[in-house]
Amino acid sequence: MIEAQVIIVGGGPAGAACAWKLNQNGMSALVLDKKDFPRSKLCAGWITPGVLKDLQLQKEDYPHGLLSFPRLHFHVYGRTLRVATRQFSIRRIQFDHWLLKRARVPVHRHTVQQIRQENDTYIIDEAYRSRYLVGAGGTHCPVYRTFFKEDHPRKTQRLITTVEEEFKYDRRRNDCHLWFFENNLPGYAWYVPKADGYLNVGIGAKFSALKNRRTTIRRQWDYFTQKLAERSLVQGHTFRPRGYNYYLRQPLKNAQRGRAYIVGDAAGLATFDMGEGIGPAVKSGILCARAIFTGRRYSAAPVARFSLTGILWTGAKAAMIKRRPGGSTRRGCPK
Ligand SMILES: Cc1cc2nc3c(=O)[nH]c(=O)nc-3n(C[C@H](O)[C@H](O)[C@H](O)COP(=O)(O)OP(=O)(O)OC[C@H]3O[C@@H](n4cnc5c(N)ncnc54)[C@H](O)[C@@H]3O)c2cc1C
Repeated sequence: MIEAQVIIVGGGPAGAACAWKLNQNGMSALVLDKKDFPRSKLCAGWITPGVLKDLQLQKEDYPHGLLSFPRLHFHVYGRTLRVATRQFSIRRIQFDHWLLKRARVPVHRHTVQQIRQENDTYIIDEAYRSRYLVGAGGTHCPVYRTFFKEDHPRKTQRLITTVEEEFKYDRRRNDCHLWFFENNLPGYAWYVPKADGYLNVGIGAKFSALKNRRTTIRRQWDYFTQKLAERSLVQGHTFRPRGYNYYLRQPLKNAQRGRAYIVGDAAGLATFDMGEGIGPAVKSGILCARAIFTGRRYSAAPVARFSLTGILWTGAKAAMIKRRPGGSTRRGCPK
């Protein structure tokens, strides 16, 4: 039997951030993930300045490509709004691997199936034992399934279905575009450029609303990719999209049960308005680690519920700094 003080199921941003904080505070943590890293993860890879702040990461210290967007193009009902902001894009295949290495904890490849409690400990598949157990296994997390599902069943109205593709595209533009409600889509579509010539395009929508509107995500995807060609944003590319489902934020009374915890997508923390999940995963992972090493109760309540307020606020802040005499040379000002 392999033992650790804390076992974290899932090495995505939630699990890696939790492991990093625990290790910094002298606790022995072990991450179990069903995949070998680097692993691919469907995601547009858009991150906010808050993610860098929570990770205590300076942009220049990230060893892989990190692209900055000083503005976003919002397209709503045929109108375009250019919003000043300060956002970033990363490639998950690199970012998640780097985060996990940075945590400096052992990582075992293991698909967690069964969890049981024995006295004061958690036993995983009769192979691992820990005093604390963190569920960071995303939408299908076995810790959620075993200890939280009954009290917190997920609401189907909050289920988001997505289709996307990330690929190298030499003619990609540098700006990020978001299209809301186009073709009666109950969600939005994105065009997110990445460093090193990569591009991520995709759509996400509420599953139940799509059904009510008698349409499917695949039909919407076909419409979207046709529009990308008409707008000369992507041409001559044969798409091979993949899909994934996850849940938007919903009421969560208890993200801790005994010494078992859920963080990130396992706790269903992606924001209501944009389905942003990396920031909430990192934040909740850190909050959970803090609760473990301080002995306080863990709550995911401080994790932001909306993204748009943050996007608009960072833009307004950047504009205010720029307007101050000598402001554009001050630290923290977007370049
Ligand atoms: C198409 C798409 C686009 C998105 N775009 C964005 C975006 O631009 N910005 C943003 O902020 N968010 C975005 N999101 C949401 C974001 O990807 C997730 O919210 C985020 O990955 C959650 O992180 P996590 O660590 O909780 O879970 P995950 O990143 O899903 O990590 C969970 C880990 O657990 C492992 N695991 C699962 N089950 C087991 C098991 N039984 N045993 C062992 N290991 C297991 C998995 O292998 C995985 O590595 C997007 C999501 C999708 C689907």
